[in-house]
Amino acid sequence: MRFLVSFVFFLCCCCSSAVTAGNKPVQTFVIPHSHMDVGWVYTIQESMHAYAANVYTSVTEELSKAKDRRFIAVEQEFFRLWWDTVATDSHKRQVRQLVKEGRLEFIIGGQVMHDEAVTDLDDEILQMTEGHGFLYETFGVRPQFSWHVDPFGASATTPVLFALAGFNAHLISRIDYDLKDAMQKDKKLQFVWRGSPSLKEKQQIFTHTMDQFSYCTPSHLSFSNSSGFYWNGVALFPDPPKDGVYPNMSLPVTKETVDAYAKTMVDNIKQRAAWFRTNHVLWPWGCDKQFYNSSVQFNNMDPLMKYINDNSKDLGVTVQYATLGEYFQAVYQSNLVWEQRGSEDFLPYSTEPQQAWTGFYASRNVLKGVARRASSKLHAAETLFTRYRISFPDGPVAKDWALDKLRALRWAVSEVQHHDGITGTESPKVSDMYLQHLTQAMMGVEELLAALFLLPHSLVLPSILDSSYRRKGVHQALEQHIIVYNPLAWNTTTIINVTVNFSSAAVFDDDGQPVPAQIQRSARSNSTHDLFIVVKLGGLQHRKYLIKFSEKKCSGRSKCVRTYQARGVLFERRNVRDWLRTGRRLLPVLNECYKLMFDQDTNLLHSISYLEEKRRVRMTQDFWEYHANGEVKTGPISDNYIFSANGSAVRAYKAVEMEIVPGKIVTEIRQYFYREESDQDYAYSITTRVPECFGSRVRCHRLEQTYTLGPLLLNTEVVLRTRSSLNNNKTLYTDDNGYQMMKRTHRKFTNNTVARNYFPMVRAAYIQDDLTRLVLVSDRAHGVSSQSNGQLEVMLHRRLWNDLAWNLGYNLTLNDSSVVRPTLWMMLGSIGATSKLYQREAIELQHRPVVMPIDQPQRPWQEKKPRASSPVPSVVLPPNLHLLSLSIPGWNYSSSHDVHLNHVHSGTDLHSEPDYDRVLLRIMHLFEEGEDPEFSKPVTVNLKDVLRGIGEVKVLEERSLTGTWDMSSLQRWKWKTEDNLETNNKKCWSCGNEAFTVTISPKEIRTFFVHFASRNF
Ligand SMILES: [Zn+2]
Repeated sequence: MRFLVSFVFFLCCCCSSAVTAGNKPVQTFVIPHSHMDVGWVYTIQESMHAYAANVYTSVTEELSKAKDRRFIAVEQEFFRLWWDTVATDSHKRQVRQLVKEGRLEFIIGGQVMHDEAVTDLDDEILQMTEGHGFLYETFGVRPQFSWHVDPFGASATTPVLFALAGFNAHLISRIDYDLKDAMQKDKKLQFVWRGSPSLKEKQQIFTHTMDQFSYCTPSHLSFSNSSGFYWNGVALFPDPPKDGVYPNMSLPVTKETVDAYAKTMVDNIKQRAAWFRTNHVLWPWGCDKQFYNSSVQFNNMDPLMKYINDNSKDLGVTVQYATLGEYFQAVYQSNLVWEQRGSEDFLPYSTEPQQAWTGFYASRNVLKGVARRASSKLHAAETLFTRYRISFPDGPVAKDWALDKLRALRWAVSEVQHHDGITGTESPKVSDMYLQHLTQAMMGVEELLAALFLLPHSLVLPSILDSSYRRKGVHQALEQHIIVYNPLAWNTTTIINVTVNFSSAAVFDDDGQPVPAQIQRSARSNSTHDLFIVVKLGGLQHRKYLIKFSEKKCSGRSKCVRTYQARGVLFERRNVRDWLRTGRRLLPVLNECYKLMFDQDTNLLHSISYLEEKRRVRMTQDFWEYHANGEVKTGPISDNYIFSANGSAVRAYKAVEMEIVPGKIVTEIRQYFYREESDQDYAYSITTRVPECFGSRVRCHRLEQTYTLGPLLLNTEVVLRTRSSLNNNKTLYTDDNGYQMMKRTHRKFTNNTVARNYFPMVRAAYIQDDLTRLVLVSDRAHGVSSQSNGQLEVMLHRRLWNDLAWNLGYNLTLNDSSVVRPTLWMMLGSIGATSKLYQREAIELQHRPVVMPIDQPQRPWQEKKPRASSPVPSVVLPPNLHLLSLSIPGWNYSSSHDVHLNHVHSGTDLHSEPDYDRVLLRIMHLFEEGEDPEFSKPVTVNLKDVLRGIGEVKVLEERSLTGTWDMSSLQRWKWKTEDNLETNNKKCWSCGNEAFTVTISPKEIRTFFVHFASRNF
């Protein structure tokens, strides 16, 4: 969070009669809450110590003292840390009672309040599932309301996910200031949101937008020089004060002050009541880091509320403590007809004309990249462990040890989804904390992967050790084994890249057959080489490969006949000032899909033709820089959150060098951009890999680009600019959380047009005209924009410093001196052809095959008898369905809600063994309705058949998104809309003769519990 809104204050009392029509007093729901950022300025440990643990201790005690008191608990990470390490048995008993009575309400229920702009839906679902699993297992509760009060803008994917999780209402706050003003004025802050154009009313959800006061209580009181309604003052770091006296505590409520307090509160309530259609006012009581001393909070609020209620006739207002659920229940019961909103989102977000929160899309590129890598690694490990566990329930990899490793990474990936985490808007020490948690947990999961891979019975163990090549007298060579695992439920033939220290190598598969490969010197390195290997893997399959190294070069007939040794050709450095005539000497790089032309006068890309339609598109790519202002006095600044383009971008280089490495598997084009003509070191680089469609098995349309940037000069924001002859009229398309594409029409503003036309790209962005679409898919989030016709720019890295006292005080200036290496895949083609491809490509980029070296280069092993091997059966879904999750959560609860509740309320020991037999399965349809004539159709699959490769499915239960609801019992509230469409969530997924048969419609995400027949060996 940042910039508490405290400047708006209310002198207006004139409107009071207007909102109390019929003399019915305004019913006010005072919702006590504490906004606890899981990170931001302070680490989790610091926050627990300074205030977070005290919030739950003191709230539990205070709620137990008076029946009418309430509290909503939002971020589960802090609650769980308190529950596991601080709470006494007596606290736990009290919490169970308060939860049962509905006085302590869990809202959202995720580990964190996740960001909405730069998070991927996989991780949003994960972090919610993690929190919901804990809450359901421990208390038998299922959160039904959201409280997205602080994410910087609102995505249209969030309401869809919450609907799928069984929520009854959604709440947002940060949307464009001018839009919020208008919605307030027109009483349109509440609506029914149909976030997905394909799922429409099936997954619609009532949405409440907070008014201009947002989630904090108005803090300036005219009669007091302290903050208002925060009687516990302000949290103190690093330690809570020993005497319990915190800074800035509000004046106590006394006989002398109660009237002034009451007047202030009532005026504010009436002001807000005028913005809503019903007679109910949601009055959030709290702010960041509040309620660590709840007794002083409630002991002042109790008499104030009593005073207002005693005078409610005169004041026209009643007040009551409430949970969010109680507020929404009251609004629901008003039975009004609500406007519906389509699948538009609320991104980007500005707080005022010069304050566009579009910088964070690109802040802390390293953290964004590591978070996504950790997420893919987790997916790979979850699927592999699930397979292992079903095949070998009594196998030697200890299940508890394995689950601990997985849980640690689930926790770390969940945590960083926080809206001051993956956003890059945290202080450096907090960023380091996230990175440390992620890398530590990734190392744990790598140990698990190694254990699973190395088990003799867990993989196709190779006859490579004594196959024919061994007899050819090559025993002098060093060799190394690698395992390659395909974590997707699609068959694939693709290229992997292994960095090695030898200039010559031969690769063999697990049948001892030589494998096509290519080796070349790594870019700008004299010591390492890139070894590209064509791998062929079934869905969820892994294979072992053997690399044999040799210091000597291969001759044509030698063992490494299938490894091509590629050599680069260096092109002379070209200076920008000499670009008088360009395009005279074009150099083609061809594969079966494209002809790329590079201009030897500039060393830049000149054009790309896509051969299927014989269409040529002019296209250049290079780097540009926005130079940010660092002095508040001289104009708007850029920081972690905000991008203020201080003028137009300028070309970031004066000279370009190029090297082309023609290959038989990939052709690599390396471009180096020099800031000055005479510079020794380049400032930026692009490495483009054009796949050679090996035997037409590899997809040729994927142009892989990896960029090198950094350390940047201070106050620089760098973009990769792709300029093309496409006539897109500055319109672009970017994804919301990898789930759906949003059309972004260029908008003109009086101020700040550049920054306000920036959008988040999580997985994909494209521009198009009538004939052609240019698509980029990404391995991490960036900011993207189309600032002129035919242009698509991606902000890849930022380094900023400014003298704003607030930024300096919290160390939030983003002086990020790291070197970053993001990857994009580029595709060009007709709209029809690219529509079929990009969703899958985005997933394939995220979930590239896991390559794991299982030993160091060494002398060959002793010849052993080959094991009898049979390949691990593949698991394959149709091309438009994606295996979103396959994991063993370990939750211990009954699938029957009643049975589970009885167990929870019986008070018996709840810490029993994790359940290793329940498998969580999620399948997602990747296409929108009407997007593709073939792939947009609903797909029917028999899950017993699909999963046969893993084991025999015995039981299949359909569940809500996070697993807590049995779908047959889930009845979400039916909010009335103008078109009054019936919302029917009932699905007929196994009601025909064929059990286990499921039909999945466009954009559906279906979640199941699967039980397999036991297979003990
Ligand atoms: Zn926050």
